[in-house]
Amino acid sequence: MKIAIDGPAGAGKSTVARRLAAELGFVYIDTGAMYRALTFKALEESLDLDDEDSLYQLAQNTEIHFQYHSHGQRIICDNRDISDYIRSPRVNAEVSRVASKPLLRGVMVAQQRKLAENKSVVMDGRDIGEFVLPDADYKFFLTASIEKRIMRRLEEMQASGYDIERETIAREIMDRDQRDSSREMGALRVLEDSIVIDTSDLKVDEVINVLKSYLKEN
Ligand code: C5P
Repeated sequence: MKIAIDGPAGAGKSTVARRLAAELGFVYIDTGAMYRALTFKALEESLDLDDEDSLYQLAQNTEIHFQYHSHGQRIICDNRDISDYIRSPRVNAEVSRVASKPLLRGVMVAQQRKLAENKSVVMDGRDIGEFVLPDADYKFFLTASIEKRIMRRLEEMQASGYDIERETIAREIMDRDQRDSSREMGALRVLEDSIVIDTSDLKVDEVINVLKSYLKEN
């Protein structure tokens, strides 16, 4: 079975997707982490983030995979565990710029499909239902009010030890939403067959129960 979860930043996708996958015994694939890994590497190599060709080459020459442990999942990029570096304010600020490049997206979509081959998966991102897994058994679109999304991201960043202002997070989320929704390929949008869930007033357990209620119905 394939479950696609798309939605904007801070809607609670990763937490819900990870927990749902664990409960169902499925593999969780965090595609945002893959775009973040490429962004981290591009920044480390001081690449020009507007140069599509060099980012395309970067994507082709980078090996990304996940390692699954009982205490969570790690992202390994060229044999190096970079999980602790991909959620920095710098990566947050640049990732949607990198992810807007169509050639690079082509490479990532192919890798993501491969990761999901012959497995039951929960995959989250922006274009999963439309491009990566168009035949997914379920396509969920998680959203929440902008206020709630800012608050959640702020709490998440503070919990990871970043001293960051609410205004900075608000700007970053709004910029990212704008770029992710308006790019030429793989733009974030609600599909005709998406099941839309507003998580503004729901706790994680409640969101998971709503998702599971759809799985049970069929
Ligand atoms: O899910 P997360 O917020 O970690 O994703 C980081 C960024 O990666 C998004 O803002 C988006 O620019 C990009 N992304 C994407 N397509 C996906 C997943 C993430 O473009 N499938």
